[in-house]
Amino acid sequence: MASNDIVVVGSCMIDFVSYAPRLPKPGETIHGSEFVTNFGGKGANQCVAAAKLGGKTSLVTRVGNDIWGPKYIENLKKNNVNTKFVNATENYSTGIAQITVADTGENQIVIVAGANNQLGITDVDVAQSAISKARVLVLQLETSQDVAIRAIQLCRGISILNGAPALSEYNPQLLKLPTIFCVNESEASIFTGLSVDSISEAQTAAEALISIGCNSVVITLGEKGALYLDKNETFHVSCPQVKCKDTTGAGDAFIGALAYLLANDKDISMRKALEKSCVAAADSVTRLGTQISFPDEKILKDN
Ligand code: ATP
Repeated sequence: MASNDIVVVGSCMIDFVSYAPRLPKPGETIHGSEFVTNFGGKGANQCVAAAKLGGKTSLVTRVGNDIWGPKYIENLKKNNVNTKFVNATENYSTGIAQITVADTGENQIVIVAGANNQLGITDVDVAQSAISKARVLVLQLETSQDVAIRAIQLCRGISILNGAPALSEYNPQLLKLPTIFCVNESEASIFTGLSVDSISEAQTAAEALISIGCNSVVITLGEKGALYLDKNETFHVSCPQVKCKDTTGAGDAFIGALAYLLANDKDISMRKALEKSCVAAADSVTRLGTQISFPDEKILKDN
């Protein structure tokens, strides 16, 4: 297969979601009302988001050698993701998130990273040629930070690191190497130690991130859109007001769209790219689910 414009290095997880009237107490068994299985994991989500918009994508990840590994690979193929670098790992389960959602919306989550914890430098090195030819490389922190650093070092295009989940201790190179460091408000708060609850507090946090070495920073602000800062410019983009049904994966829809836009239009301004990423992410929150809620290419043509 030809080289891919977008390479994502990261996690994939299967979400097992049970809906119940309330959360069980320790040791208690209760009856739930519904059960659904969703394909998730930030790496796979962001890769699928870019692929659904029409991006030529490749995912570097690990699944287990259980019944879920082949199912996940099938799901990626169905979404036009190149699975050449998806490694099935002996003696490990596919990453899973066991989620219980109560009628109140409260939830309880147990994550077992399984094969994701085995994603290592060798996986990145096997994909070296694809990574170095990619226009955009995308990474997150559900897999090891050493893996992310190694991948960025191989990248000759634009690298986007999604600092999620946030780390309170990290290798300083993690923030210095990527072209774009992208976080939501709570992650920005953990990385900086500052409160981030408004656009002006996000601006202060972004300035702090630039002062510790980031090249450029995007802070997503939920329904308030996103903020951009680099050494030359800063601006805020708002996002469409929509009837929100489920924000799960909104950040992943945003990053997948940003990767797609930067990979497919070398002349696009950062402001335009972020405005359009907000349009795609806002559209995703109007539908239930994660990957299945991500929009296809029509969303960018119509806006
Ligand atoms: P999540 O953890 O829910 O996947 P996140 O916390 O990583 O998301 P957010 O900052 O909440 O990321 O949202 C990312 C983007 O999604 C926002 O910049 C915005 O474009 C869009 N978005 C999120 N929530 C809404 C909303 N209620 N209405 C419209 N757009 C939204």
